[in-house]
Amino acid sequence: MMLGTDVSGLSTTAANAAVQGLSIVVPLYNEATGLAALHARLGELAKKLKEKYGLVCEVVYVDDGSADATLGIARGLSADALDVQVVSLSRNFGKEAALMAGLDHAKRGAVLFMDGDGQHPPDLVEKLVGHWIDDGYDVVYTAKAHRDNESFLRRLAVHGFYSLINWGARQKIPEDAGDFRLLSPRAAAALRQLPERNRFFKGLASWIGFRQIRVDYEPAARAHGVTTFSAGRLLGLSIEGLTSFSVAPLRLASLLGAVLATVAFLFGLSILWETWTTGKSVPGYPSLVIGLMTIGGVQLIMIGIVGEYIGKILSELKARPIYFVAEHVEKRAEAEKSIN
Ligand code: UDP
Ligand code: MG
Repeated sequence: MMLGTDVSGLSTTAANAAVQGLSIVVPLYNEATGLAALHARLGELAKKLKEKYGLVCEVVYVDDGSADATLGIARGLSADALDVQVVSLSRNFGKEAALMAGLDHAKRGAVLFMDGDGQHPPDLVEKLVGHWIDDGYDVVYTAKAHRDNESFLRRLAVHGFYSLINWGARQKIPEDAGDFRLLSPRAAAALRQLPERNRFFKGLASWIGFRQIRVDYEPAARAHGVTTFSAGRLLGLSIEGLTSFSVAPLRLASLLGAVLATVAFLFGLSILWETWTTGKSVPGYPSLVIGLMTIGGVQLIMIGIVGEYIGKILSELKARPIYFVAEHVEKRAEAEKSIN
């Protein structure tokens, strides 16, 4: 019996790429200020890709319940250089859900995820596409070339996060890979088939396998506004990513339990030994209290971790849709219209 899904029929060869093309998925949350400029740059990019690889491009803007004029501006964007889809979600569902909506609406085969704030340089896309079409890679992911501008504490936290999530994993999630990523048609098809509600794209894109390659880049400064991911939100996202993706925290809990039990056992032995050899009873009030508090604290933390997983099970069980689409606009590129 076959329980896997065969996506090998979706070839990644250049011939196929020419027929299918590339869907650029851009999640937007309050990005009204820079949207027109970004669209112009994507238009240029589409022309270049058409010339060089014969790729037909479309862009899928996913408005993730923006509170500003993002949707209005997106609706008005011209489809001169490439097809435009605008998918407007019914509220703010978060970036991962927006990416999923984009992935579901992408029609051109290969999919490129790109932030809407100008931090992911369109100029790099040619190189990413090259790795796919010329070199036959299925997942081309990008990573920040360095983290010099980030605090030591933050880097430490990031490192800890990846060590934990990759602990014992067969397929490691590359450290500091971003969401700027190109997927070949079969990799995109594979990603669409994963049924979970709690999506952690970085992890999933790595989990599906195929031929993957890393490209380092220098992220541009945010074109406008400030990041929507505060330290608190990042922490939430990390817990989300960890618990929806890996059982490492549960394993850590078991390990810690085993270590504590061993220490307690050895401590007990040493007390026995002391009483045996000296004949004195050991005064034990402080050690008792410390022992109790340690065990109590560790147990509470571990119950919290188990609780996180139960929460995940609950939300998977409810099987709610990942997003709702309130409005969907589609415009075909002028150039193509005249051909058809
Ligand atoms: N974004 C989104 N929904 C949200 C938050 C962010 O679609 O709830 C989009 C945002 O518009 C941007 C991308 O996700 O295109 C990355 O967001 P941001 O630049 O704030 O994050 P950072 O670059 O700091 O990780
Ligand atoms: Mg950003």
